[in-house]
Amino acid sequence: MRVNIDEIKDSGLERSWEIPTVRLEEALRGDRAGYQAVGPATVEARLERLGRRVRLLAKTTVELTSPCGRCLLPARTTVPVDFQLTLVPAEEAAEGEGGGHETGEEHAEGSFTPHQVDEETYRGKLIELDPLVEEQIALALPLYPVCREGCQGLCPVCGQNQNEKACGCDRRVPDPRWAGLEKFRQS
Ligand SMILES: [Zn+2]
Ligand SMILES: [Zn+2]
Repeated sequence: MRVNIDEIKDSGLERSWEIPTVRLEEALRGDRAGYQAVGPATVEARLERLGRRVRLLAKTTVELTSPCGRCLLPARTTVPVDFQLTLVPAEEAAEGEGGGHETGEEHAEGSFTPHQVDEETYRGKLIELDPLVEEQIALALPLYPVCREGCQGLCPVCGQNQNEKACGCDRRVPDPRWAGLEKFRQS
């Protein structure tokens, strides 16, 4: 989705579009969890002009699968993405950092994820929205996806999926720090 800033009137501009599965796959590439997109993602965005700056508010939901971080079976993850960005003309951004940017004020509102309020630059009059949304999707991915909260994972000794049945292996890991003491006890 590409927007010309002249299209943004005082009442703002609303756009809704789909990011195809293949593009999502590209945005997910390089993530260690091995995510794959289940289908396309519908993005809803609102743009507002503040002089030459543009405020972008967008949200989408991405359906993904990946191997569970504990048992390796396919795990489905729904990732809600909801963000705001201030788009600054490249020339203005180059004029110098600081200078009374409004981000400080917004951080004071208590945003707990730092990437929710951010600034990006644009050149000319056209703003490409897809790369901005794809970047936010990549930032929103859980680091350690699991198939379900209580997943027991695989036995590190025999590899049995502990969700299916208990294998009864001795999984106590000897702590090397106690090895010396153990010897002392036995003597
Ligand atoms: Zn699992
Ligand atoms: Zn086992």
